[in-house]
Amino acid sequence: MKKPSQFDAIVVGAGPSGNAAAYVMAKAGLKVLQIERGEYPGSKNVQGAILYAKALEEIIPDFREDAPLERHIIEQRMWMLDDTSFVGTHVRSDDYNKPPYNRYTIIRAQFDKWFSSKVREAGALLICETTVNHLIMDGDQVVGVQCDREQGDVYADVVILADGVNSTLARKAGFHGEIQARNVALAVKEILFMPEETIRQRFNIGEEEGVVIEMVGRITDGMMGTGFLYTNKESLTIGVGCMLSDFKKNPNRTSPYVLLEQMKHHPSIAPLIAGGEMKEYCAHLIPEGGFNAIPQVYGNGWMIVGDSGGFVNAAHREGSNLAMTTGRLAAETVISAKAAGRGYRATALSPYKAALDGSFVMKDLHKYRDMPDILHRNPQFFTTYPDLLANAARTMITVDGIDKKTKKREVMSSFRRSRSLSGLVGDAYKLWRAFR
Ligand SMILES: Cc1cc2nc3c(=O)[nH]c(=O)nc-3n(C[C@H](O)[C@H](O)[C@H](O)COP(=O)(O)OP(=O)(O)OC[C@H]3O[C@@H](n4cnc5c(N)ncnc54)[C@H](O)[C@@H]3O)c2cc1C
Repeated sequence: MKKPSQFDAIVVGAGPSGNAAAYVMAKAGLKVLQIERGEYPGSKNVQGAILYAKALEEIIPDFREDAPLERHIIEQRMWMLDDTSFVGTHVRSDDYNKPPYNRYTIIRAQFDKWFSSKVREAGALLICETTVNHLIMDGDQVVGVQCDREQGDVYADVVILADGVNSTLARKAGFHGEIQARNVALAVKEILFMPEETIRQRFNIGEEEGVVIEMVGRITDGMMGTGFLYTNKESLTIGVGCMLSDFKKNPNRTSPYVLLEQMKHHPSIAPLIAGGEMKEYCAHLIPEGGFNAIPQVYGNGWMIVGDSGGFVNAAHREGSNLAMTTGRLAAETVISAKAAGRGYRATALSPYKAALDGSFVMKDLHKYRDMPDILHRNPQFFTTYPDLLANAARTMITVDGIDKKTKKREVMSSFRRSRSLSGLVGDAYKLWRAFR
């Protein structure tokens, strides 16, 4: 029999999605309980980490006043690497140096703690070091959660699952199936301590300015994946992630740790991180299935937000951006449902999906819906093309007495030899489809 609700809403998890949901509901005066298994919010979290200001601004407009931000990003580098070189583009603009800044590097442990303090200030009750083991059902309606504590049953009108990638709660309740290795990446990252002055000199930046380097190519050993290097105030974040299914079938049996070590020794990367002292090392899954892997995200008395619903835009790795936005949209749906007094059946919570569909979240996921599959089935984009481009650039730039026309012919024939004319045309079409 259904026990009376003790809370309007229970939020499971205190990452960006859970904090966004709990904050918005508490701020609107709802009685909110948030449960986090970590010792404190942020203690279980791993992130690169770039914070996209817009999503947080919609929730806490004046967040810049006291949020622990590292550097605002003024330069984005995109590198394609072969074994010894990189070819890339750098976009740097003084427009990015004018407040309000668009993106920041953050340290997740500090940021999540700060966000959580705002959630509590707004009036939500947070319980840490507590794991939710099951959802409590009354027929087909979720009515509460069962925690790993004595008398650990808590009841609420609605439960928001913000428990991150590989949500065991959603799986146990049958809301979505087993996680598929082809739909998640395994990423490892390190934070390397470095004096502020060294970072400024190496990356050609001022006191608060930051640089992001995104990388593809030989660093992922033929697997679909990317590497990244971000500048924090007094540290660098370096990491690499590849599809879990690719790790499983990698002929060299390369482990994520070895991949990161190899990447750190790449001649284009090693000088940037030289002397860095490792402060933190972690590994985590990232949902990469995109639009086609998003499960049902609401039902009778429940909603799924953030990584738990697979909301990561593989094209830009904006997980926390999507996490905060989905958390906010779910919270706004609960607030409206309560105001309308129409209960919390799936029909009352369906505006959540409509709001998602109308937002950049589903629009962007839909736009890049074919990308994960196309890139996954075409490893040449991570192997052959970085090699060809690096070789072409070296050939054209090297001054060695060979005339430019001959060099150009050499470059063209190296492309045709590796991929054939029809292969090149096919690859161009695939790339267009992936990023159209
Ligand atoms: C290496 C790496 C780099 C990344 N870089 C970026 C980046 O630069 N920018 C970006 O926007 N995104 C990035 N992401 C993605 C981003 O980290 C995630 O999308 C984001 O953290 C998702 O937030 P979330 O709140 O949904 O989940 P999480 O942050 O995973 O939070 C889930 C929380 O739920 C708690 N929890 C889980 N199960 C339970 C339970 N049963 N009971 C109680 N609590 C529970 C966990 O302890 C955790 O605190 C990166 C991810 C990785 C792994």
